[in-house]
Amino acid sequence: MDTLHVYNSLTRRKEEFVPLHPPMVGMYVCGPTVYGNAHLGHARSAISFDIVFRYLSAQGYRVRYVRNITDVGHLVNDGDEGDSKIEKQARLEQLEPMEVAQHYTNTYIEDMTALNIRRPSIEPRATGHIPEQIEAIQKIIENGYAYVSEGSVYFDVQSYNKDFTYGKLSGRDLDNILAESREDLEGQSEKRHPADFALWKKASPSHIMRWRSPWSEGFPGWHIECTAMSTKYLGTKYDIHGGGMDLLFPHHEAEIAQSNACNCHEPESLHDEARYWLHNNMITYEGQKMGKSLGNAIDLRQFFTGHHRLLEKAYAPMTIRFFVLQGHYRSTLDFSNTALMASEKALSRMADAIKRLDGIDPHGKAIAVQADFEENLGSFVKDVTFAMNDDFNTARVIARMFDTLSVINQLYKAEGNTFAVQPDTFLEFRRQFHVVFSDWLGLELDAEDGESKQETLDGVMKLLLNLRLDARKNKNWAQADQIRDQLVKMGIKLEDTASGTDWYWEQ
Ligand SMILES: [Zn+2]
Repeated sequence: MDTLHVYNSLTRRKEEFVPLHPPMVGMYVCGPTVYGNAHLGHARSAISFDIVFRYLSAQGYRVRYVRNITDVGHLVNDGDEGDSKIEKQARLEQLEPMEVAQHYTNTYIEDMTALNIRRPSIEPRATGHIPEQIEAIQKIIENGYAYVSEGSVYFDVQSYNKDFTYGKLSGRDLDNILAESREDLEGQSEKRHPADFALWKKASPSHIMRWRSPWSEGFPGWHIECTAMSTKYLGTKYDIHGGGMDLLFPHHEAEIAQSNACNCHEPESLHDEARYWLHNNMITYEGQKMGKSLGNAIDLRQFFTGHHRLLEKAYAPMTIRFFVLQGHYRSTLDFSNTALMASEKALSRMADAIKRLDGIDPHGKAIAVQADFEENLGSFVKDVTFAMNDDFNTARVIARMFDTLSVINQLYKAEGNTFAVQPDTFLEFRRQFHVVFSDWLGLELDAEDGESKQETLDGVMKLLLNLRLDARKNKNWAQADQIRDQLVKMGIKLEDTASGTDWYWEQ
């Protein structure tokens, strides 16, 4: 696609991306609830929107990217009753709730930095925006879309639904929602309708995190923080709202309703607070949902160290990043040790090719253009741009990068002879390949580690090739063949030439 198109969950189709106030782009993404270490699902969401952030920036947009930290109001089971996730963890760890929030905010940022995720422009905390949330709730009450009950405030879904459509993002109507929320009815007698959700909760005596409000001493509901903070930093209408697909209902549905109710948008306007709603899909483990209760939740630190019973080894942060990018962000991604090891190997093949690419000097050689090589490298930028413009299809970008590896390796091997591509084509391709690898996809070569590993590998290969040469000199064909065959099994191919034996990774 010539221009950027994104899949909008609100309209359920791909739409051309046209910002409200170019070259500015406003993007809000729901960040983590900080009560535990970040896991693969957090990584996927953060990586997906890092790609959006990077690509839009690379296209010349000035992106204000806001990603919040939820440190209050998120109750267990995502409902309106029960413990606060953070307070529950605080009791377990015998810490102040804000210590828990600070600790897991720190670990989240460390893990995201390890994955080379760029920090957003603003990372607001919910507890730092209590007055803004109280103000938003007041407006919603004044506009007639919320009511006070026993010191708590609830969003009045029925009254909202008279003027707007509740459920349009998730494609549910009130009857569906009613049926789904029946089981939660118990203990919700404060509500007029089971689909109503809390904007403010009166704190029980044992609740630690509490603030004064016109209605009671209490704390905000989970959804209102995003409305208050996105309005504060991006205005009442902005371009992109993102998050994981698991947030689509009720969280994002509630956000749209709150924003309309608060800012009195035109009823039924096509695009509410955000014009484009983007949702990344989930990660499964061998086809199963991952979760603490299922015993297969692995946090990122466990991936980085390999310390989890389901992990066969440690995986570098770049391997995780590469694995995530090998899938399109809207597809489910199934994690297994096999899949991660394949990603690790693929990334190392690409890293080898980049080192070779950087070592090629096209100058001062006879040019004998090979049409398919020229075409392959010459159309690279057009192809990867097309893939990114098609709803950030990193999977296709990576596949196209792999398509160039055999050409890179051939050019590398042909060093010293003729050059099969126009030098200008080659140099432009090399520049773009680095831009795509580092700037668009945010991948990194671990220079020092990579180099020393490469040196070791080169040394080991030299040793093996000499052993094979000795075997051949001694007419020990069986041993010579065994060395070659074993290497082929590991993906390394040998090529005997007049001047000795070359080796390369099989494509
Ligand atoms: Zn949110």
